[in-house]
Amino acid sequence: MIKIQIATLFPAMCEAFLSESIIGRARKAGAVEISCRDIRSYTLDKHRRVDDKPFGGGTGMVMQAQPIYDCVMSMISDLGEGAKPRLIYMSPQGKTLTQPLVRELAAEDDLIILCGHYEGVDERVLEELNFEEISVGDYVVTGGELPALMLTDAVCRLQEGVLPNEDAYSDESHYNGLLEHPQYTRPEEWRGRRVPEVLLSGHHANIDKWREEMSREVTARKRPELLERKGG
Ligand code: SAH
Repeated sequence: MIKIQIATLFPAMCEAFLSESIIGRARKAGAVEISCRDIRSYTLDKHRRVDDKPFGGGTGMVMQAQPIYDCVMSMISDLGEGAKPRLIYMSPQGKTLTQPLVRELAAEDDLIILCGHYEGVDERVLEELNFEEISVGDYVVTGGELPALMLTDAVCRLQEGVLPNEDAYSDESHYNGLLEHPQYTRPEEWRGRRVPEVLLSGHHANIDKWREEMSREVTARKRPELLERKGG
């Protein structure tokens, strides 16, 4: 079972998300193990500070190296001897999170994810622990918590026992390099729009064929570059 540990200044923010819905149920059922650790509880500063002004001037605050280092070292040692956790820093400067990277991470035993906040973190702790940087896209958010939760969610849904069966994720957009076909549910007609007849036919071979064709059609229309990458 994969173990994911999140180092953050805002553990409650992460817990709020991780306790609900599919991921919340997966944790309760023991299909994944996820924990959040408060970096602040590792500070040696008597005022419990975890950040300070940037050297060289400029706006904002930078998270200090010591609390992060001690927090992550304690997470590593709790994993016990021989554990080789992958250390990830959520960062807009990292490589972009894609489904192939999610699949690669999903095969690991242990992930430790560091969330930055404010202006980011002191560069030296990233170097010292040799963090791998992963981004959720070319835009900037206020903290690494949402990015870490996106990565965690994407990784967890590939674990055994999280979704009802493998089809639930192997049919999905991006799994095989294509986008998914459109989906419909009841009623059969809504505001004059009917569900495609083939889906009501009960003819499974025809339904599969329609879905495959639609999947290609949707990908060609919405994300043509994905088809080129796939080689037609
Ligand atoms: N000064 C930094 C940005 C800091 S944003 C820079 O210009 O590179 C504050 C924190 O939010 C970061 O430390 C990082 O953990 C997180 N963050 C912001 N945008 C992100 C993104 N696109 N992907 C992953 N994490 C991100």
